[in-house]
Amino acid sequence: MAGDKRRIDRRRFSLGLAMAPLALASPQLLEAQEVSNKPDAVAVDKAATPQPEPKKRWQIYEEEHFAHPLVFERRGVKPQVQPFALRDVTLAEDGPYAQSRAWSRAFMLRITPGRLLHNFRQTAGLPSTAVPLGGLEKPDSLLRGHWVGHYLSGCALLYGSTGDTEVKARGDAIVACIAECQNKLAAGGFVSAFPETEFGRLEMGQKVWAPFYTLHKLMAGLLDMHEHAGNAQALDVAVKIAGWVDGWTAARSEDRMQDILNEEFGGIGESMYNLAAVTNDNRWARVGDRFQKKIFLRPLLERRDELRQLHANTHIPQVIAAARRYELTGDSRFRVIPEFFWETVVESRTFAPGGSGTMERWVTHANHLAWEMKSSSENQECCCAYNMMKLTRQMYGWEPQMRYVEYYERNLLNHRLGTIEPETGHTTYFLSMAPAAWKTIGTEDQTFWCCNGTALEEFAKLQNSVYFHDDDSLYVNLFVASELNWKERGVRLKQETLFPKEPRTRLIILTAPRTAAGEKWTIHLRVPAWTTEEARVTVNGRPLDIAPQPGTYLNLTRVWKEGDHVELEMPMRLTREVLGDDPSMQAFLYGPVVLAGQFPLGQLSFDLLHKNEEPKVKDAPLAVPVLAAKGDQLERWIVPVEGQEMTFRTVGTGGEQVMLKPLNESWQRFAVYFQVAS
Ligand SMILES: [Zn+2]
Repeated sequence: MAGDKRRIDRRRFSLGLAMAPLALASPQLLEAQEVSNKPDAVAVDKAATPQPEPKKRWQIYEEEHFAHPLVFERRGVKPQVQPFALRDVTLAEDGPYAQSRAWSRAFMLRITPGRLLHNFRQTAGLPSTAVPLGGLEKPDSLLRGHWVGHYLSGCALLYGSTGDTEVKARGDAIVACIAECQNKLAAGGFVSAFPETEFGRLEMGQKVWAPFYTLHKLMAGLLDMHEHAGNAQALDVAVKIAGWVDGWTAARSEDRMQDILNEEFGGIGESMYNLAAVTNDNRWARVGDRFQKKIFLRPLLERRDELRQLHANTHIPQVIAAARRYELTGDSRFRVIPEFFWETVVESRTFAPGGSGTMERWVTHANHLAWEMKSSSENQECCCAYNMMKLTRQMYGWEPQMRYVEYYERNLLNHRLGTIEPETGHTTYFLSMAPAAWKTIGTEDQTFWCCNGTALEEFAKLQNSVYFHDDDSLYVNLFVASELNWKERGVRLKQETLFPKEPRTRLIILTAPRTAAGEKWTIHLRVPAWTTEEARVTVNGRPLDIAPQPGTYLNLTRVWKEGDHVELEMPMRLTREVLGDDPSMQAFLYGPVVLAGQFPLGQLSFDLLHKNEEPKVKDAPLAVPVLAAKGDQLERWIVPVEGQEMTFRTVGTGGEQVMLKPLNESWQRFAVYFQVAS
């Protein structure tokens, strides 16, 4: 969540961006002039004779993309594959995923509804004796209420995942209070923890802090409470808020709205499309269309990366909204946009653990990650990783491409699992790539960063992408100990694994489908790209004739019976990833697991650990050795430590020996990228 100074920068940048089409046009015009002058060059004294306007036969008049207002027409796109309902996939209680979920849940329950609702009640003129929360939820924070929206989503998703009635009761109580505030305000459906006057300031171009972003969090929380926890009142409150948003946005011209969209507004467009889908009322989708920021979408549609200097976590949700629009309309422009965006971010703007961005934005041109690392220790904002995964999952539904799963797994294992502090459930803002970084963590009730809110959603639904399905086949994507109940097919399946602590997984059919005897169906088993040619699959203990190919699905079609079991052996190996603009900067992985060099935490102050959003490494300098390594064979200079899982050490690299452990378990100081001198 950008601070004030940054927002001024962003506004200035937006103005610059608005000028960009003119600047871009200039070289083309020059080129046209040159080419036109060539063919009929005759002996004319150019200095003395005014030149006629050159004829540019090949230059046609062209309207820019989105020159006209969007017209919403519902023509829904059928996904190729779908996720399962949250409740249909159960995480093994002793695994790292359920453990993270439990830490997050306990943190949520320690924050009482009274404290969460204090600002809503005060703003509505209702009494509250609760002790206000601090940080970004304190009573004078312009962002107040954002975390409450995330909290509602967290309650809804936890209930959806586990049937947790205690958490559902929390969510229901908060919804009821927000409805009470909405009625008390009697402001055309408006309700928020900050007053409606903030939107007046937005209109006037005065200093605000992302009021539509904050309203989106509340809308999303309410819609989640309706979808996952069956709370009808939540939908009613959301519809009334949407009515207020409709009135506010309809009262402004398109040009004026496009200007207003230069202020951070995040994913409110997506919420409007979701509301349109839930209510089957296109009115809300037309409101969503008013949040399509054309100056951002145009270059993406033209497959140009102009992300430099853009604020990442306001624009990723805009791409999600565009993707949602594609799903409702079939308008192919809104498929090209997320597809190109995903490619350029994932392939040229993503660090080894899966995150993207520095200082909350894409600060450089594409493929300049070494420059990004040098510029700041504020790398990989958690909200961005979360939202990129959300987008990835959405696009996987359109076409189940393996690259989406590889990226999702990389992020889930290394970034997301690595940003929740064991036991406390407190989470980080950034996952820094600075040498000798540490994880800066929010506090119990004095922080409430955007990323702390995002985490409540993340850790409530970690199982949502393990399996997908189409009408008659199953996709096994992630190696997570879990149980699947595919109700429509009468299939129950268990996955047993300690992955990534072990390089294998085992699927067991607990219940066979209720179909006519002899009917075959297919399990598409992911053979990950990071494994080797030595990967092996057995069915009921018998090896398959064909060798599984890394980076593909192995399609297992048969009449599956109760007790059938499939085992996938997927050997891991050491690999490295280099930064394209400085190949000496290298990260090391074991299978999909990003390894991090370990350095002692030492005596860091409370402020350095908790108050700053990022590790201020310059305030506590610690040298990370350069690795003097020879040869391509990593196994010669990175060797396993006997008796310690997933732990390695450097050998013969000069200087001090470095211990390497998974980044997601690193709570000391760490280094993911090392300078390697060969
Ligand atoms: Zn964030």
